[in-house]
Amino acid sequence: MADFFREPKGIPGTTAKWRDFNSSVRAEAHGRVNLIGEHTDYNHGYVLPTSIPQSTIVKLRLRPDRLVSVQTDRGLGRIEYELGSEKQTHSWRDYIQGATWLLAREGLTLRAGFDLTIQSTVPMGSGLSSSAALLVSLLKVLRDGHDLKGLGDLEISKFAQRIENEFVGARVGIMDPLAASLANEHNALFVDTESLRYEQIPLPTTKLDFVVINSGIAHRHSSTGGYNERRAECEKACELLGVGSLREVKKVEDLDALPDLYRRRARHVVTENARVLEAVEALRRGDCEKLGELFQASHRSMSQDYDVSLPEIDAMVAIANRLPNVFGARLTGGGFGGSIVVAVKAGHAVRVADQIARRYREETRQSPQVLVPKA
Ligand code: ADP
Ligand code: MG
Repeated sequence: MADFFREPKGIPGTTAKWRDFNSSVRAEAHGRVNLIGEHTDYNHGYVLPTSIPQSTIVKLRLRPDRLVSVQTDRGLGRIEYELGSEKQTHSWRDYIQGATWLLAREGLTLRAGFDLTIQSTVPMGSGLSSSAALLVSLLKVLRDGHDLKGLGDLEISKFAQRIENEFVGARVGIMDPLAASLANEHNALFVDTESLRYEQIPLPTTKLDFVVINSGIAHRHSSTGGYNERRAECEKACELLGVGSLREVKKVEDLDALPDLYRRRARHVVTENARVLEAVEALRRGDCEKLGELFQASHRSMSQDYDVSLPEIDAMVAIANRLPNVFGARLTGGGFGGSIVVAVKAGHAVRVADQIARRYREETRQSPQVLVPKA
């Protein structure tokens, strides 16, 4: 009998076998909040993100042709295209097409077309990295569904960054995809973005919780414009200093000769790198007061030297810093809007989040959204 019903070897136009079409494969990647180390990744410095509970889940089922059919939630609808016909559209389609485009360029052959469903709870455009969560979960499901052996989690982060850089057209750094691929909620992911060495730093969860609140201001002044401008300013500072990257500058005195604007931009990067290293030490010691001080210093530096905060965000950080059971607060993400992260005493996150949101709403008339702890 077994011989009589022999499994067909393959399907014309694909390298998949019939049995591959009967099962679906699933992958998940979480959003992230950067605890400290902001605007340091493109300056070859240090970052310290951790995962948030919100995630993106993708499910893939191979199909017996070369079509890709994708359904996402969020009212963004469905897309369909043929493998090999990827074209930029300047919409969410580019994240999907960019992934199949890059894999083909790298010689990683997809066995067949596929149906994909995307479900995500990571808010889009809130500085919590929904784009990296999408790309990393997608690359992982493509790896598992298409048997792309040898594509490791670190490689997947690099691919996700390249897809945003080369296909979507966003000049993003390596932090977001690294966090989406490698971070978890129990640790902070300490990354040297120059060597890509990383270490999981256990969070002192008996003493410390985090609160993340969206300001309700979605990247005013166009986040990409401001972000690209800061990158260009850092490049100019390097040129004036004669260094390859601001990572090479070890002390702020070395910046004295720079014109004021470039000195302030570079000073943020140099001092922020030092703060990440101190924050790692503070976490290792379980010293939450020190971590809070570093959060506050980081925010001042982002606001005054790097100019990526807004009056409303400064107000929310100040409200948080005045509350009991708060170690410290800061703007997280690229800035010009987005979210703040607050280090609070364990067990106080819900109440503190509530208080910050209420007072911020009264003071600024904005509509904040508590993202962590998750409702
Ligand atoms: P962030 O990564 O901070 O959330 P980005 O602007 O980098 O903000 O990425 C947001 C974009 O990523 C969205 O506009 C959309 O194109 C795409 N995206 C993210 N999540 C999804 C999803 N679940 N479905 C479809 N597109 C998504
Ligand atoms: Mg993004």
